[in-house]
Amino acid sequence: MEFKITDDKPAILGGEKAFTGRFSRWPVYGHSEEQALHEVLYSGQWGRLDGSMTAKFEAEYARVMGMKHCLATTGGTTALYTMLGALGIGPGDEVIIPAYTFVATYNVIVLNYALPILADTDINSFQIDPQKMGKAITKETKALMPVHMGGVPSDLDKIMAIAQKHKLPVIEDACQAPGSEWKGKKVGSYGIGGAFSFQSSKNLNCAEGGAVTTNDSTYYKACYAFHHQGQTDNAASFGTGEGTRGTNARMTEWQSRILLAQMVRQQEQDRIRSENAAYLSSLFSEIKGIYPAKLYSGATKVSYHLYMFRYDKAHFSGMSREKFIQALRAEGISTSTGYGRLNRDPYVLALGQNPYYLKIYGEKAMRQWAERNQCPQNDKLTGEQSLWLTQNVLLGSRTDMEQIAEAVRKIQKHAKELTLNS
Ligand SMILES: *Cc1c(COP(=O)(O)O)cnc(C)c1O
Repeated sequence: MEFKITDDKPAILGGEKAFTGRFSRWPVYGHSEEQALHEVLYSGQWGRLDGSMTAKFEAEYARVMGMKHCLATTGGTTALYTMLGALGIGPGDEVIIPAYTFVATYNVIVLNYALPILADTDINSFQIDPQKMGKAITKETKALMPVHMGGVPSDLDKIMAIAQKHKLPVIEDACQAPGSEWKGKKVGSYGIGGAFSFQSSKNLNCAEGGAVTTNDSTYYKACYAFHHQGQTDNAASFGTGEGTRGTNARMTEWQSRILLAQMVRQQEQDRIRSENAAYLSSLFSEIKGIYPAKLYSGATKVSYHLYMFRYDKAHFSGMSREKFIQALRAEGISTSTGYGRLNRDPYVLALGQNPYYLKIYGEKAMRQWAERNQCPQNDKLTGEQSLWLTQNVLLGSRTDMEQIAEAVRKIQKHAKELTLNS
């Protein structure tokens, strides 16, 4: 190790803070974004039906992703909603998602009155366990929706093999993974398509925005129609309807132009994040009880949205995860436990009493549904072990990473004392 291991007391016990820097502000912007907004303003063309920026962004995003088509949407949620709508998913259908994901993945299925089936997590990778996903398939299953959590690719080889065996379409929720690659190809290009989010917290950001990517031209047309009131034309004139259902999920020119400006910064930011993450993981590998999310061997590029790692209190004198978070905060480092137990969330469980669900699926099926969603590995991960650092932390320096590791080491060394003090 190049850096000095100090014998300092943890800050929470009155020692000096391990972290002396400042985490990167987010979003990162400057003159190019100012110009972008100026340009759209004075063009007087503020929507995609008026101007050409959205089409330009779509072409650029498709090029960078190495895919045939990109459809910009108002958000990641509407990108997923559009993808399900274009597949015609509806009442009586089942869609399998990971238990470890953002609630939007679940919500889009429920918006279609389809039944979300939650598959358990591979605790080492924080990703959907392909075997559990396979076991959850029934004759009602109409789509598989894995999520590349934190920007880390899920096990696409296994997922695609299962999908092919059962002839099921795969919608990749790549909302956290723009730029990540599996075996040298971008995630979002393995299934029928991928959904991306450009919401404020995400690595590519225009406040609210999203995209669908696909290589399937027929599917692209269906997605386009769904996001454009069921119509085919890119013009404001209607009457050439193609889909049977639709909504308005069109991106504005403001969002598209800002994304074009942000994309210029993205590659360099991705490089910094992934170098820092690899360095932090190498430092953590020397600390017992801290386990960074495992990368599958097919993950050839990871554009980290979250740095996910597990905390095992057995190596910290039994100190609770909450106390560990407090101690880190005192060192100047903010972490969170991240997503909770989606399968046991009161919001999710309430679906069992939803009158429309009872009408469509029946009482027995809805009782069984809660049973089917048991995910013991995910319970363990979210209830006891999971921790996150957010992507802007990874935009810092190597010294920042060293200080994070040093903070953890200090806390571990004094864990007994800290546990007695709580
Ligand atoms: C952010 C996110 C979404 C939703 O995207 P929005 O742009 O906020 O609508 C969906 N799925 C996952 C996994 C996400 O992280």
